[in-house]
Amino acid sequence: MKALVYTQEKTLVFQDYSDPKLAQGDVLIKVDSVGICGSDMHAFLGHDSRRFPPLILGHEAAGVIVEGINKGTRVTVNPLVTCDVCDACLRGRNNICSNRQLISMAPREGAFAEYLAIPYKNIIAIPDNVNISHAALTEPVACGWHAVKLGITSLDIPIKKAKCLIIGGGAIGMGVALSLNSKGATNITVVDNNPVRRGNLAKTSEVDLIIADQVNQSVAYDLVFDAVGYSSTRSVASQACKPGGVIVHIGLGDSIEGLDVRRMTLQEITFIGTYTYTPQDFQETALAIFNSEMGSFNWVEERSLKDGHKAFTDILSGQVAASKIVLKP
Ligand SMILES: [Zn+2]
Ligand SMILES: [Zn+2]
Repeated sequence: MKALVYTQEKTLVFQDYSDPKLAQGDVLIKVDSVGICGSDMHAFLGHDSRRFPPLILGHEAAGVIVEGINKGTRVTVNPLVTCDVCDACLRGRNNICSNRQLISMAPREGAFAEYLAIPYKNIIAIPDNVNISHAALTEPVACGWHAVKLGITSLDIPIKKAKCLIIGGGAIGMGVALSLNSKGATNITVVDNNPVRRGNLAKTSEVDLIIADQVNQSVAYDLVFDAVGYSSTRSVASQACKPGGVIVHIGLGDSIEGLDVRRMTLQEITFIGTYTYTPQDFQETALAIFNSEMGSFNWVEERSLKDGHKAFTDILSGQVAASKIVLKP
């Protein structure tokens, strides 16, 4: 098959690659659409110690089953493969499964390819009326959905009344905004320092958002999402959060520093780390997308998989206005 292969730092090559081998319980998907995630960019730059070349990146995928059960069905893929038997899985928290594997990380190849092998239990059928490239974005939106669900559980006021702040207007930030909106939030601010992206957010968002280049210091937020995850954004989050408020941390920028732990202690601010989504979150998100609760996905740009390298370098140089690029094999 043809695949977009990460061959070395900052290099993706569209080339011939060995076909995926099906394990017991797998189906073979002919990939139709696959989104570029911030974590793919992280790997592309050589910053991800979990992803080594040669490797096929990409984990936000949808396509058609061409081998295995229910051949011909259009499906979206939950890329997180979990064991279902460890302590975390048994508690329904498969996202922190101790044996979890994510496609695009060894030993599982990713979806920037013509074909992908994935366990049948990891797919969800897409209704006929739903655009397959939107269904591919169940994954990043589900990250937001999960984060919003966790944030709400620690909030001491109804979500309808909460002032919500999202740091970072990429696809995860967008997933948080859409999920907040669908859960009834009415006051949502998104902060992003990229002017091109802010312009696009203003143009494309169907959710009523306040869009800014930096946090308004005079506003105290009940619920703050860090969808970037650098020490600088954590610092902003821990200052912007109201006493008794909640910080939900999703971004995987860097590992340490930034939080004002003394302020968080004195002001009883809850900090929640979140990672991906449970199978239930993934189901719920897919359903919300299928029911058009997540809008029309006009924040997405489509490009050909063979031009994938250029898509990465364009994102890197800040030239891409869309919150998400979806590649088409
Ligand atoms: Zn992702
Ligand atoms: Zn497990």
